[in-house]
Amino acid sequence: MAPEAYEAVIGLEVHTHLQTASKLFCGCATRFGAAPNDNVCPVCLGMPGVLPVLNRRVVELAVRMGLAAHCDINDFSIFARKSYFYPDLPKGYQISQYELPICKGGYLELPGNGDGGARRIRLVRIHIEEDAGKNVHEANASFVDFNRSGVPLLEVVSEPDMRSAEEAVEYLRELRSMLVYAGASDGRMEEGGFRCDCNVSVRPRGASEFGVKTEIKNLNSFRFVEKAIVYEVKRQIEVIESGGRIMQETHLFDPVREVTRPMRSKEFANDYRYFPEPDLQPLRVPSAMIDEIRAAMPELPAERRARYAAEFALTPYEVSVLTQEREVADYFETMCAAGLKNRKAAANWVMTEVLRIVNESAKPIAEAVPSAQETGALLRLVEEAKISLNAAKTAFAAMVKSGRGAAATIEELGLTQVSDEAEIAAACGKVLAAEPDKVAEYRAGRDKLFGFFVGQVMKAMGGKANPKVINEILRKSLQGN
Ligand SMILES: [Zn+2]
Repeated sequence: MAPEAYEAVIGLEVHTHLQTASKLFCGCATRFGAAPNDNVCPVCLGMPGVLPVLNRRVVELAVRMGLAAHCDINDFSIFARKSYFYPDLPKGYQISQYELPICKGGYLELPGNGDGGARRIRLVRIHIEEDAGKNVHEANASFVDFNRSGVPLLEVVSEPDMRSAEEAVEYLRELRSMLVYAGASDGRMEEGGFRCDCNVSVRPRGASEFGVKTEIKNLNSFRFVEKAIVYEVKRQIEVIESGGRIMQETHLFDPVREVTRPMRSKEFANDYRYFPEPDLQPLRVPSAMIDEIRAAMPELPAERRARYAAEFALTPYEVSVLTQEREVADYFETMCAAGLKNRKAAANWVMTEVLRIVNESAKPIAEAVPSAQETGALLRLVEEAKISLNAAKTAFAAMVKSGRGAAATIEELGLTQVSDEAEIAAACGKVLAAEPDKVAEYRAGRDKLFGFFVGQVMKAMGGKANPKVINEILRKSLQGN
């Protein structure tokens, strides 16, 4: 069979840090970037005899995420010990949730980038667990940094509902977007706060049975997820086509060679001997607490997309670009609130001018570009025909550098547009008088010359004339006589 006759079947298990001030079972800070072993105490160092105390905020954020993903919230769930040995896990087990997780079922709706291909990806569960420390290997020695030990994680497990690497990345983007909108994560999932295991199999397109799957472990960026899946799908098809069989194995992705390779069986001997954590009570989430969290839920990406399509009459593509990052969507709305009528133009400005600078600078939007209020004020000057669109672009570039406001920058650079009809009419008169041959040609039918006249007038007025007024006056003058 040709490779196109196969389809991939993909399920993802995503681990992401939750945005809390303190760790899951102790009061240590979760702050990223502290000096090694600065944020530690006997609890997160796994000393004998200490007792974990559950961070209420983690439960709230997990419930929020569960509600955002349409999950059933279990009012009774259990923490379990997942036993394994690793130098960054001194107590010899990780506290996780196993048989009774806090959230069950649910789904994510992928917007499909406006191509009409919206798709629902079902979830198996969402549960809470603690992170382990980190091994740091140097030339002649290895060290363990326990700052990350006990940092709260959410594990989000999907059903095998994805059918391509692109769809898997789309799912990850939507998941990140939901975590940020729900206030559960800062979205810097790729700064070490994100790990993904991918279950991948292939089968003949249209088949209902699943093929044998392999698991690719510990991918730490969206790009690696995409590359690993593309590689693994191709590899599995080649094995089947050459008469071989897919083995149920665990693979690692080598980001340098961009291939996956099986781990030795010893590396994933996964008998974790789960049993209920005796130092923690079962977790009870009263329905009043769930109702309270539901009532205070912030707007989610899907809701914001629907609102933008309805209120602002934007295309699905524009909606998807503007809403993917909450801070970009917030910027757009604050800009519009500066009194802009033309939402389309404002959307365009964000998608081109603003995002270009944000991407080039690799800084968050708040640091990369002028405030949304000032950018809104600048665009309002365009709407009021006080400056041209080109002048606005020039001013915006200057504002990015200087940090000054719109009005001051326009003034400083002398960008105010001239709309005075008498002044523009005088310039038009001069241009037409100087070009009698071209005027005759235009009147004989060479319509294209109109642009030439506009250009000449604009040039004569130093680029500051209102092009609409030039057009009107020139049309009148050239029709007359
Ligand atoms: Zn601690």
